[in-house]
Amino acid sequence: MIEENGGLGELIRKNALLNAVKHEGKAQTGSIVGKILGEKAELRTKVKETTALIDKIVKEVNSLGLEEQKRIVEEKWPEILVKEKSEEKRLPPLPNVDKYPQVVTRFSPNPDCVLHLGSARAIVLCYEYAHMYKGKFILRFEDTDPKTKRPVLEFYDRIRQDLAWLGCEPNEEYIQSDRIAIYYEHAEKLLKDGNAYVCKCQPELFRKKVLESMTCECRNLPPEEHLARWQRMLGGSYKEGEVVLRVKTDLTHPNPAVRDWPAARVIDAKKYPHPRVGSKYYVWPLYNLACGVDDHLLGITHIIRGKEHLTNQVRQEFMYRHFGWKYPEAIHYGRLKITGAYLSKSKIVQGIRDGTFKDWDDPRLATFAALRRRGITPKAIKRMITDIGPKTNDVVLSWENLYAYNRKILDSTSDRYFFVANPIELKVSRIPKEFKAKLRLHPEHPERGDRKYIIKPNGENKSATFWVSGKDIDASKIGNTIRLMELFNIKIENAAIYSADATFNSESYEEARNAKAQLIHWIPVGEDMPCQVVMPDATIIEGIAEGICKRLKPNAIIQFERFGFARVDKANNELTAYYAQK
Ligand SMILES: [Zn+2]
Repeated sequence: MIEENGGLGELIRKNALLNAVKHEGKAQTGSIVGKILGEKAELRTKVKETTALIDKIVKEVNSLGLEEQKRIVEEKWPEILVKEKSEEKRLPPLPNVDKYPQVVTRFSPNPDCVLHLGSARAIVLCYEYAHMYKGKFILRFEDTDPKTKRPVLEFYDRIRQDLAWLGCEPNEEYIQSDRIAIYYEHAEKLLKDGNAYVCKCQPELFRKKVLESMTCECRNLPPEEHLARWQRMLGGSYKEGEVVLRVKTDLTHPNPAVRDWPAARVIDAKKYPHPRVGSKYYVWPLYNLACGVDDHLLGITHIIRGKEHLTNQVRQEFMYRHFGWKYPEAIHYGRLKITGAYLSKSKIVQGIRDGTFKDWDDPRLATFAALRRRGITPKAIKRMITDIGPKTNDVVLSWENLYAYNRKILDSTSDRYFFVANPIELKVSRIPKEFKAKLRLHPEHPERGDRKYIIKPNGENKSATFWVSGKDIDASKIGNTIRLMELFNIKIENAAIYSADATFNSESYEEARNAKAQLIHWIPVGEDMPCQVVMPDATIIEGIAEGICKRLKPNAIIQFERFGFARVDKANNELTAYYAQK
């Protein structure tokens, strides 16, 4: 019988309370059983009774309610709460939140490519802030350039999938090519009020004049003339490049790029049909008109974006004044560079087109699709971005930084297996008896189970054969003692390219430690399956995995001991995994 006294009951109660506080008042028996059995090895023969006791205590704890549970935890183990809080870093507060009934943010990609790590900062910050203030996060496809930044149908869906994978699903979605009439309406209002004009000047001539703060011939013509030009523009009377709609700003503005910026232009609809609306429109709004109008109409309260958009804010503020609107709060963060990551959209698209990359999830890319395939978790990306926050200075990160976040997550969630790269057959002789090896799926979570192997010595030589990595055993190791992890110690007698011979040496780990023996992983011959690992540089390492890996499901992220973390891509008679990191 197990007793509730002797501290066990108290230990269970503590774990149940902590678990309950984490799970909104409802502790889960299963995870506490795992924890207790992990700490108290002697109970593993009494799983049934232990579980019954835990179940009883969990019921008691859950009946307390979250407030009471929190009170007890705070009183008894305040240090644990402090520790848990500090692990989840909070973002600094947004400005002027009280001025708005609800915080509304937006992420607005152009669907001309898939998303990559370079977009993570915009997505995660906008999503997390909306979430933090119980607000709204909007996805807005900015697809109004069918000519130079041509949207592609498949990317709308891929972007939606990427956001779902990241755990940043939007509350609402808008597509700008559905909203062309709205931009026309606002352009007309600007024209009517004399705040915009349709400029027919040669671009070169206009540029020259604007640099000298001079008006062009069109600017001061009456609104009626411009409205008439606008109607002709919409009707398709002008060719590409002949006219442009300009919003009036300040011709003496210190930044010439702000002066009378272009808001809409003609695109040859036959030559450049839009993938969603075809050749329906001759006139397409430019970035600042569409984005500025939408931010206001969609009720965006906080624009969180890179500082390369600072000039766009200045441009749009002129338009906001024309309409009598108030510009949203704007937070401009610094550049985020990730050394070694492939982040140029045009190079990615080009590489796919010419076959350099197999697909959008080619492991050499830093697209979300590639990261997903490799086993980089969305949680790691989110934590890294939250830690960087919205600060204005530029940040340079490396893959190693991301791996460090990912490792913290995978270390406890990934089960361990053996993968033998470049395998050679090792024959061990003079094994004195039958050995049973029990290898935990996770060193700190015995409740997850073991991989069990029975090693039976065979024949006159009392031998058994194993797959080991050619890297671990070569001619230089002859005469050395080596430990087969969790099994026994051997002495290397012979080593060739495809095979090696050894003799049984001793059993205990202590002897291996005293001999400073190398610990290597192994797989019994006959209990194996072929396995290939796709590396981040797209090379493939062929090898052998434990046969038990057959039961793994695609998407499981595992750790191949002494090799690295990998995501299971396919598992049937052969295992294909994508390498994540060390
Ligand atoms: Zn002009």
